[in-house]
Amino acid sequence: MTTIQTDVAVIGAGTAGLAAYRAAIAAGKRAVIIEGGPYGTTCARVGCMPSKLLIAAAEAAHELRHTAPFGVHVDGQIRIDGREVMARVRSERDRFVGFVVRGVENIPEADRIRGYARFIDNTTLEVDGQTTVRASRVVIATGSTPTLPAPFKAFGDRLIVNDDVFAWEDLPASVVVFGPGVIGLELGQALSRLGVRVRVFGVSGSLGPLTDPVIRAYAASTFNDEFYLDPNARVTEMERDGDQVVVTYLDREGRSVTERFDYALAATGREPNVRGLGLENTGLALDERGVPLFDAQTLQCGNAPVFIAGDANNILPLLHEAADEGKAAGENAASYPQVKPLARRAPIGVVFSDPQIAMVGQRFADLVDGSFVTGEVSFEDQGRSRVMLKNRGLMHVYGDKATGRFLGAEWTGPRAENIAHLLAWSYQQGLTIGQMLAMPFYHPVVEEGLRTALRDAAAKLAP
Ligand SMILES: Cc1cc2nc3c(=O)[nH]c(=O)nc-3n(C[C@H](O)[C@H](O)[C@H](O)COP(=O)(O)OP(=O)(O)OC[C@H]3O[C@@H](n4cnc5c(N)ncnc54)[C@H](O)[C@@H]3O)c2cc1C
Repeated sequence: MTTIQTDVAVIGAGTAGLAAYRAAIAAGKRAVIIEGGPYGTTCARVGCMPSKLLIAAAEAAHELRHTAPFGVHVDGQIRIDGREVMARVRSERDRFVGFVVRGVENIPEADRIRGYARFIDNTTLEVDGQTTVRASRVVIATGSTPTLPAPFKAFGDRLIVNDDVFAWEDLPASVVVFGPGVIGLELGQALSRLGVRVRVFGVSGSLGPLTDPVIRAYAASTFNDEFYLDPNARVTEMERDGDQVVVTYLDREGRSVTERFDYALAATGREPNVRGLGLENTGLALDERGVPLFDAQTLQCGNAPVFIAGDANNILPLLHEAADEGKAAGENAASYPQVKPLARRAPIGVVFSDPQIAMVGQRFADLVDGSFVTGEVSFEDQGRSRVMLKNRGLMHVYGDKATGRFLGAEWTGPRAENIAHLLAWSYQQGLTIGQMLAMPFYHPVVEEGLRTALRDAAAKLAP
């Protein structure tokens, strides 16, 4: 058993952990970073990047199939070579992972510990029974893993998660997706566009991150034009038969339908990686999921010299939030017992579906009834969107009745990833709807649709 003394021990070399380690070193402390799995981060290996690579291939196939209305005809059959699709996804993904791994390798070897860490007490960790790390402070940055509800066990090894999709060498013929959240929608639509027979089932009516029921209903109907999606499905039987999974469900007319699929993809949510961390050996108070109670501003767990950042705390499981939180946790660990609140950026979320889904600022569900107005625009007749035949979408922007300030927006529509940034920057600046309308809008651009929604809100705000 080797013993290592350090100021800060970071558990997990993902986006949050690497940011925490670098912040602690930048603050002049000794630090070590402990990683049990492969280096390369969830985002680059099995998250943001490979999913966007798969979506890019799907978009290419989709565009090719939809040229005719422009008078441009692609004669002959469109051929999707699943092996080539997956080869590009994996090789480009490996390139991104390579950059991250090289960054990790630049960390002095003495600071890198391989193995799974377990708490012995608040600041003592044991790594794979081989190394004891005695730290003055600890940052938990262990990320999250997909939840697998018990009934899915019936599918045996035909039950897969996102990680498995990106390991495929070829595309399967059919996949049933459980969970129309961000991951299920992105992967489900991409696979469908690549010629895979896809069904997407949800249980609670939710769709992506949307909370505005009007936008949610619009989005559900739009996606259903392309693939079967039931956010409120009644699945009555799930079983494994040979190499396939068999799912029986009631379709929208209430008829019982039984279908066979090559795989069942579980995208029903993710849970913080806290199991096996030995948190019961610490003095930390834990919630019902076993996650330490922590201050969302400072990321500190109680009064202990322990901090939690990134997907492990499950506040906002997004890449840029993991990076911000990791840095803040590393800084606070270094300066402990002096800790300061993290300056959070404006909330922003994007789903890379088509049409895209985006949310900025406060969620509709969190706004107080009667205190705000809703400005609306449909992208169906929006000039530039129609020009490009990308005219599917509906946007709601919310304005505060008392101050005229822009409160937030939820929508689905073209170029949402770009418009979301304009709105997030406006939100962070605390702009009013009037101030936003005083900004330039070029012609003809999709952003003119945003202007229509803002004008609608402004008219409703006017006394
Ligand atoms: C399919 C998919 C698509 C996504 N797309 C997007 C997107 O488009 N945009 C976006 O912003 N976000 C996206 N995300 C979310 C984003 O990837 C995560 O929010 C982010 O990667 C979280 O980083 P992290 O550092 O908290 O965790 P991770 O990067 O998962 O790092 C945690 C690390 O801790 C290690 N670990 C765990 N337990 C231990 C232990 N006991 N000892 C040692 N090491 C341990 C793990 O092996 C892992 O390497 C996506 C996620 C998925 C799954």
